[in-house]
Amino acid sequence: MHDLIIIGSGCAGNTAAIYAARANLKPLVVAGHEPGGQLSLTTLVENFPGFPEGIDGPLLVENIKKQAEHFGAEYLHGTVVEADLSKRPFRLKVDNEWQQARTLIIASGASARWLNLPNEQKLIGHGVSSCATCDGFFYRGKKIMVIGGGDSAMEEANFLTRFGEEVALVHRRDSFRCSKIMLERARNNPKIKLLTDVVVDDVYDADKHMVTGVKLRNVKTDETWERDVDGFFVAIGHIPNTTPYLGQIELDPDGYIVSKGGARTSVTGVFHAGDVQDRTYRQAITASGAGCMAAIEAERFLEAEGH
Ligand code: NAP
Repeated sequence: MHDLIIIGSGCAGNTAAIYAARANLKPLVVAGHEPGGQLSLTTLVENFPGFPEGIDGPLLVENIKKQAEHFGAEYLHGTVVEADLSKRPFRLKVDNEWQQARTLIIASGASARWLNLPNEQKLIGHGVSSCATCDGFFYRGKKIMVIGGGDSAMEEANFLTRFGEEVALVHRRDSFRCSKIMLERARNNPKIKLLTDVVVDDVYDADKHMVTGVKLRNVKTDETWERDVDGFFVAIGHIPNTTPYLGQIELDPDGYIVSKGGARTSVTGVFHAGDVQDRTYRQAITASGAGCMAAIEAERFLEAEGH
């Protein structure tokens, strides 16, 4: 029986683990299907406070994990495939084995949706990105492309015009689901070129370990052509990793955990941290902050119960 199980080993989960371990809760961290979370998919992180020269994303998240282990947090490789939150202790099936805990912090993140192009995964962190705030800076004076027609794509395209010489916004239809004001802003920005009814068939060049261009296709005419691109930003939404908790905890229509204030969820004793609840900020530093909040709440909750 554990006092606390933390689900997820990104910035949120690992920071929660530092605080919980220092509070003597001996947390068990279930690393999840993407150990290290989204930072493990990035390269240089320049906006995490404390690193004036920047730090490699995978190194940053590994360091936070080491810090947690130093204080006694334990890590379990595996993924939560089933959960029973109906009564306490809570029960989690991690791969084939059941674990029990008095409290839980769900920090399982939200995975970026990708286009599943033949070469996309090989170029993540080498020109393919799902985060303009994180990676836009690297494309100063370069050719940028953003994919999507929602608010995220508009926001990213507008933001990226600060850096890029041009920003091509590629959307698969000719109408947009984003808010009108965001679309107008994009339309009025001279650096943004809207390419509608267009899809990407592939991104190049995996052999060179950098993005050099894309193959595009007009879905109405079937015409295909190539275009030079240096930075390729996919902004087609995120999928919160909440499948094991469906029907057991309050989720919004897109599957994000609904916060009940602080780090509380609709289930007493279950707390949230990071992108699994946050669809707005999605930053390493905000996830870390949320992990800290969740651990403090779990600790106070256990203490109030006499554990
Ligand atoms: P979204 O609203 O779900 O939009 C996703 C976009 O990606 C859609 O235009 C969709 O095209 C496109 N798409 C999905 N799969 C695709 C594929 N396989 N190939 C090509 N295109 C694909 O996601 P979001 O923009 O991340 O926004 C999520 C939520 O956060 C929304 O509620 C949004 O309003 C909110 N948000 C708000 C702000 C803000 O207010 N500042 C900023 C960001 C996000 P279709 O339209 O054809 O389906």
